[in-house]
Amino acid sequence: MKFKNPDCIFCKIVAREIPCAKVYETETCLAFLDIAPVNAGHVLVLLKDHYPTLMDIPTELGCDLTEALSKVGKAVMEATAADGLNLIQNNYEAAGQLVHHAHFHLIPRHSDDGLKLWPQSGYDNPDEMSILANTIAGLLK
Ligand code: AMP
Ligand code: ZN
Repeated sequence: MKFKNPDCIFCKIVAREIPCAKVYETETCLAFLDIAPVNAGHVLVLLKDHYPTLMDIPTELGCDLTEALSKVGKAVMEATAADGLNLIQNNYEAAGQLVHHAHFHLIPRHSDDGLKLWPQSGYDNPDEMSILANTIAGLLK
């Protein structure tokens, strides 16, 4: 591990200082069962190195991550006979991030599990939508 935070629970799991129910490991990634699952089989996938949020992850690790997410996602669906799978990733406390070591939730879904995603809203007018799109696009130039 190049980047480790001594106060981080996921760094401690990566270093085997505390246990986890591991399902997958590569040189750069680790995946284990979430201790408080939304549905049984809920897995967390993370890079072993400590990056606080998605936006801190170096792009060169993107392929390792997507490969882990895809492989683990398939296995989770098969193991739980799931009908679907949610990929959820929280950044910062305002978005519900409790552990500040970026991680990806893979949550198996069943047609009858009764879970609902968050409600959606709309824009007051089309101008508001295009102004916001232009602002974001401008920051990406
Ligand atoms: P987040 O809110 O996106 O930061 O998610 C943190 C997740 O980590 C929660 O779903 C917790 O249930 C999970 N979690 C916390 N500690 C552990 C642990 N020791 N082993 C497995 N999962 C954990
Ligand atoms: Zn960490």
